[in-house]
Amino acid sequence: MELTQQQEVDRRRTFAIISHPDAGKTTITEQLLLFGGAIRNAGTVKGKKTGNFAKSDWMDIEKQRGISVTSSVMQFDFEDKRVNILDTPGHEDFSEDTYRTLMAVDSAVMVIDSAKGIEAQTKKLFQVCRMRGIPIFTFINKLDRDGREPLELLEELEEVLEIDSYPMNWPIGMGKGFEGLYDMYHNRVEIYRPDRYDGERLIPLTEDRQLSREHDISKLSIFDQVQDEVELLLEAGNEFSEEKIAKGELTPVFFGSALTNFGVETFLETFLQFAPKPEAHKKVDEERVDPYSDDFSGFIFKIQANMNPAHRDRIAFVRICSGSFTKGMDVTLSRTDKKIKLNNSTQFMADSRETVEKAVAGDIIGLYDTGNYQIGDTIYTGKDKIEYEELPHFTPELFMKVTAKNVMKQKSFYKGLNQLVQEGAIQLYKTYLTEDFIVGAVGQLQFEVFKHRMLNEYNTEIIMETMGSKIARWIDPEQLDEKMSSSRNILAKDRFDQPLFLFENQFAMRWFADKYPEVELKALL
Ligand code: GDP
Repeated sequence: MELTQQQEVDRRRTFAIISHPDAGKTTITEQLLLFGGAIRNAGTVKGKKTGNFAKSDWMDIEKQRGISVTSSVMQFDFEDKRVNILDTPGHEDFSEDTYRTLMAVDSAVMVIDSAKGIEAQTKKLFQVCRMRGIPIFTFINKLDRDGREPLELLEELEEVLEIDSYPMNWPIGMGKGFEGLYDMYHNRVEIYRPDRYDGERLIPLTEDRQLSREHDISKLSIFDQVQDEVELLLEAGNEFSEEKIAKGELTPVFFGSALTNFGVETFLETFLQFAPKPEAHKKVDEERVDPYSDDFSGFIFKIQANMNPAHRDRIAFVRICSGSFTKGMDVTLSRTDKKIKLNNSTQFMADSRETVEKAVAGDIIGLYDTGNYQIGDTIYTGKDKIEYEELPHFTPELFMKVTAKNVMKQKSFYKGLNQLVQEGAIQLYKTYLTEDFIVGAVGQLQFEVFKHRMLNEYNTEIIMETMGSKIARWIDPEQLDEKMSSSRNILAKDRFDQPLFLFENQFAMRWFADKYPEVELKALL
């Protein structure tokens, strides 16, 4: 039976997995795709471990078919839900796009390595999710290895991330002594190696949390200990609250081991139950657009340039917020009021280049772009103009001085620089007095893409001189005094002529703050 548009929207679950490199994001994603039937066997990923193995592996996986989109968006059906996982590139692919992707999801799954706890990149990505107020689910991974004490990990969540936690299950042992999960939410025990016991994987508990019958696991002293811990957690811990989960104030915590595929299915089922469906998205005027509306609308959160010089096209990724997408439809680009036909140029990011059949709020489509779009653009149909909230800018952390190699190429240098900055590929600054160009990024890859695109699209070879990592802080122009500039900071202005300092390190920033206590130092995000 054909679903109505509303039913289609209601079954969408669009989320991103955030983590620090090596916590297990790729492994868990692969397991999820397996459950969704999007790939047929694991193993492509296992074994190979280099910095960027994931990219090529995903392509292999795509060739196996099943996933309708490339690694940027992975879509599959699980039970009655349609799941969209948006990739948040880490490793050396970390860039502003990684942050912006979080603007296009309805919830996030945070994967944490149980031995390492919360790491730098997790924290940064978490903060973006926190700012959006979206639900965040936690998966504490690698329980098959010795890690930190579970209680300590929950404490760290609360202290470092300042989010309340609610354990949905609790590990019974870890590493070599890992026996399974005490699943408080489902009131059952999930056995890690059923073959060691009497073969059963799921053992239900009675209402008063006892084993319903004599079971091998009851002989384990560790089981008693876990039962005590669980009692304590249930008595003294946070209360389960769907409302708090929905606001991102409480994170449900799941333990497991992605590599051995333990705890992942339970996680997926429970996660899909609580993860939100697409909700009404906010416009610049603060009003919200109903996702069930007949009129199509969406915003561009990422533009990916084709790195193959033979194909200069780009792909603009659109998060659909309302209506449904049909091939060949006419849309209006809000920024310019220009009409654009989403014709043959419009396709899903499918490896097999499938065209989209039906895409509704919550889905992501990829539009072939020849330079029409910028990051943050809204496209819509219907009489009423829709302009979605601006996407935030993220404080860059890496900086390079940039010049054109050939002085005769200044014109194309400026053109390329301006267009790429406007498109959102990189951020632009100038030194305050001498007006030297500085580009800023959150990841090294952005510089490489920038250099490549300047050459390929604007025929301009550029020279980039690294300035390394800096802490960028904006100040009120009224408070600016050129004396404030010192050898430990660089005074610069952004492309809106707003002054900022690039501090060498935390120490230099603190020194400045002590010396000029009246000057407020502001970060973008
Ligand atoms: P990503 O960088 O977050 O995508 O991490 P990967 O999924 O590539 O995993 C990093 C490494 O940790 C790989 O060698 C994985 O095989 C390993 N790994 C992932 N999950 C687990 C797990 O549950 N247990 C163990 N022991 N290793 C894991």
